[in-house]
Amino acid sequence: MYPKSFEKLIKNFSSLPSVGPKMAERLVLHLFKQNKEDLEEFATNLSKIKELQHCKKCFNISEGDLCEICKNTSRKKEALCVVEDPLDIISIERTRIYQGLYHVLGGTMESSSAKKESELKISELLKRVQDEKTKEVILAMNPTTEGDLTALYLKRKLQDIEGLKVTRLARGMSTGGDIEYADELTLSGALTNRKEI
Ligand SMILES: [Zn+2]
Repeated sequence: MYPKSFEKLIKNFSSLPSVGPKMAERLVLHLFKQNKEDLEEFATNLSKIKELQHCKKCFNISEGDLCEICKNTSRKKEALCVVEDPLDIISIERTRIYQGLYHVLGGTMESSSAKKESELKISELLKRVQDEKTKEVILAMNPTTEGDLTALYLKRKLQDIEGLKVTRLARGMSTGGDIEYADELTLSGALTNRKEI
């Protein structure tokens, strides 16, 4: 039997994706062996997560109302890159070739059910494109069945907006591969060779 607080932590870690009970035990034991300063920092950072929120404009992870990218006035406002989740932004930013803004959908459409559609930030996207007079929307959905379905749906919603170009990342990435895990070179190529759809 472990002490109560130890058991509780194991339960916390077990609730994380891809962490089973055995791995959780190992992680908690590892933390137990850390020095006090490192532990303190870990605990502080963990507790600060609850202060984070979604950017009011693009729905990226943010410390205040607006995220660092939306606050950055040197970003080019004419392009909007639509991604499934905030981790995709991190991957695209690593390529350093994209200077525009982002819009986080919060997932993909898994079926044509109206409920799922309303959970995604689609109406917010359409409003932004019109309010901000966006010139190009880059659909950076993952090359999966759901990603394709979502890109097609967005294309239909966006196609009637005058003067707007809608592009999608080139098929450099393997089908089923995630943007989140793509290497910088592959992702740079997919961005540079994006095609109008
Ligand atoms: Zn933002």
